[in-house]
Amino acid sequence: MAAHGPLTPARIVFDANGRPQAPDFGDAYHARIGATAQAQAVFLAGNGLPHRWRGRAEFTIAENGFGLGQNFLATWAAWHDDPQRCTRLHYVGVEGHPARGADLARALATSPFPALAQALVAVWPPLLAGWHALDFDGGRIRLLLAFGDAARAWREVHLRADALYLDGFAPDRNPAMWSPELLQAMARRAAPGATAATWSVARPVREGLRSAGFRVEIGPPVGDKRETLRAVFDPPATMHRAPPVTPPGEVLVLGAGLAGAWAAHELAAAGCRVRVLDRHAAPAQEASGNAGGLFHGVVMADDGAHARTLRAAALHAARVLPGWIGRGVPGAAEGLLRLAGAGEDVAALQALIDRHALPGGYVQALDAAAASARAGVAVTQTAWWYPGGGWIAPGALAARLLANIPFDGGMAVARIDHIDGRWALFDTDGRRLATADTLVLANAADAAHLAPWAGWPMGRSRGQVSLWRRVPADAPRPRVPLAGRGYLLDLGDGGLLTGATAQPGDTDAAARVTDHDFNRARLEALCGWRAPPPDGGRVGWRAQVPDRLPVVGAVPAMNAPDATRLDRVVRAPGLFVLGALGSRGLTWGPLAGRLLASQVCGTPWPLEASLAQAWDPARWRVRAARQAPNRLGG
Ligand SMILES: Cc1cc2nc3c(=O)[nH]c(=O)nc-3n(C[C@H](O)[C@H](O)[C@H](O)COP(=O)(O)OP(=O)(O)OC[C@H]3O[C@@H](n4cnc5c(N)ncnc54)[C@H](O)[C@@H]3O)c2cc1C
Repeated sequence: MAAHGPLTPARIVFDANGRPQAPDFGDAYHARIGATAQAQAVFLAGNGLPHRWRGRAEFTIAENGFGLGQNFLATWAAWHDDPQRCTRLHYVGVEGHPARGADLARALATSPFPALAQALVAVWPPLLAGWHALDFDGGRIRLLLAFGDAARAWREVHLRADALYLDGFAPDRNPAMWSPELLQAMARRAAPGATAATWSVARPVREGLRSAGFRVEIGPPVGDKRETLRAVFDPPATMHRAPPVTPPGEVLVLGAGLAGAWAAHELAAAGCRVRVLDRHAAPAQEASGNAGGLFHGVVMADDGAHARTLRAAALHAARVLPGWIGRGVPGAAEGLLRLAGAGEDVAALQALIDRHALPGGYVQALDAAAASARAGVAVTQTAWWYPGGGWIAPGALAARLLANIPFDGGMAVARIDHIDGRWALFDTDGRRLATADTLVLANAADAAHLAPWAGWPMGRSRGQVSLWRRVPADAPRPRVPLAGRGYLLDLGDGGLLTGATAQPGDTDAAARVTDHDFNRARLEALCGWRAPPPDGGRVGWRAQVPDRLPVVGAVPAMNAPDATRLDRVVRAPGLFVLGALGSRGLTWGPLAGRLLASQVCGTPWPLEASLAQAWDPARWRVRAARQAPNRLGG
C-alpha cells in the first residue's frame, strides 16, 4: 500500500485584478472570461449538462484539478437551479496542491454564488493527503475531495464517472495531469457513454483520450480559446470493464448499535429502503449504550493503514458529529486532550507531527501548562490536542440516527441462510423472522456466528465505566474531555464519567467494585483527583479483531476458495458486514457507514481503495491463501 507523501499546498498569488495565479505552474487558475463562464461553457455544456443528469437518481462527476472549486460551484448552482435535477450529485475533485483555507476564501470572495462559496469555505478540510467527504444541500450534493498526487489518487479512487472535467494546469507546464496513464486510469473509472470535456486541445490530450477509449470531438470556442475538446467514452468491446453495481431496493440491517445505526442511516440517505432488526426492544442496549464516549484522531509512529484510516475516520467524525450534537444529542465537539506518556516532551510530540506533516487543524503538541489551560484542570504531562475531537452520547446518537427508519425489536437471530436468492433470518426455534435481498450484519461479535464461513477472528473485550451523578465539590470539571490511560468526561448534565476497563474474554455482566477501583486509580493518575466510589457504572463488550481495524464490506461467499488477492475473493450476493468497531465505534462509525453504503449502492467510496482493503471482510481469506504451503492460484 503506497502511502501518500505530505501535501504541498498551492502557492497562490493574486494579480492586480485579484485574479488567482499559480506561479509554480506559470498559469492562471482560470481563463480570462472568468471561472464561472469557463465552467459553464467548457465543462457543463461540454458534458451535456444539465440535460444528462435529468431523471437520474445518481450522477457522478469527477474532476482532475479541483483547484479553487469554481467548476464545482458552477455545477452545484446549475444543479440547484434545475427542476429536473438528479436526486443526488456526486462530485469527486482530485487535487494535488489544495489551496489553504484563507486563499480559498479570498479567491471565492467574488464568486457569483456567494452562499455556495461560503458553504465550501466553511467546511474546507485541514490540508491532509487523503479523501475528505463533504455534504451539502442536505446530503444531496456529495463532494469527495481526493487530496494527493494525481497519478496515485486516480489509482486509489473508487467510482464510476458519468462525466469527467479535465482541468489541470496547461499540459506543457503540468504534463503529469494529462499523461496517457492518468487518462487510462480515468477511463477505467468511466461508465459506458461517459463524457469528458476540457479547454485543452493539445495533441497529447486528444491522443491520450483516444487511446483510452474515448471518441474525441472539437468543441466550440470559449473566451480566448479558439477550440475546446469534448469526448465520449466508447471503449472497444475487448476492454475490461467492471460491471455496474445495481443499488438494492430494500436493505435489512441486523443490529441497532452504532454500527447498525450508521449503516442504516447512510443507506437511507443513499436512497435505499431500510429496516433494522435487533434482539432488544430499543436501539443501543449493548456496547453502544454508555452515557458518553470519546471521538478523536491519533498520531502513531508508523503512519500505516491503522493510523491513516483512523485519521480519515476522525476527520469525517469531526465533520459529521457536531451536526448531531446541534440537533440535541448530548455531547460537545470543542476538542479533546490526550495526555502523552510520562517523560514524552513536547519536542518529541512535535517531531512526530512534523514527520507526518499533520496540520494544526488536526493535531497540536502542547506542554503541560498549555494543556492545563485548555483543560481548565491542572495536568502534569504534555498532551496531544485534537481540535476536531470531543464526546457524544452513543445511545442517544444511535436512536437519533434510526429515528426515521423502521425498527423491529425483539428479533433474536440465531441463523441466516441464502434461500432462493434471498437472505432468510431464523430464530433458535427455526422460525423465519425476516427475508431480504440485501442483508447487513451489524450485530457486533455475533456476526461471526451467523457467517462462520467468513472466518472472522472476532473477540469480545469487557469494559466497565464508572459514573458519578452526585459529584463531590472537589471534583475537577475539565472543559474538554481529558484522555490518556483512562479518561474523564463532564457529561454536561452534572454527571462525570470515567473509564474504561478492558478485559478480553471476561463474560461477567455485573459492574464490579474492583473495576471501579481500577478506574478511580487511573483517574487519580490522569488528573490528581482522588475520587470517591462512583454511584453508577455500566458494563459492555467491544467486538474486535486482532488487527484492531473495522470489518466493513461484502462478505466472502460460503464456499468460495481462498484467493491471494481481495478482488478475486468471490462474495456472497447481497451480504455485507459492518463491525469490529472495538473501542472506537464513535470515531469509526460515520466513515464506516458511508463506506458500506457506497459499496452497497455503487457510489464513490469515501476512502482510498487500498485503505478500504484494510477493512475488507475477506482479508483473512487472503492471508490464509498467502500463508498456505502450496499457494493457491487466484
Ligand atoms: C466500556 C466501554 C467504553 C467505551 N468507550 C468508547 C469511547 O469512549 N469511544 C468510542 O468510540 N467507543 C467506545 N466504546 C466502544 C463502542 O461502544 C463500540 O465500538 C460500539 O458501541 C460498537 O457498536 P456496535 O453496533 O458494533 O455494537 P453494539 O452496540 O453491541 O450493537 C450490536 C447490536 O446487535 C444486536 N445483536 C447482536 N446479535 C444479535 C442477534 N443474533 N440477533 C439480533 N440482534 C443482535 C445487539 O442487541 C446490539 O444492539 C466503548 C465500549 C465499552 C464497552
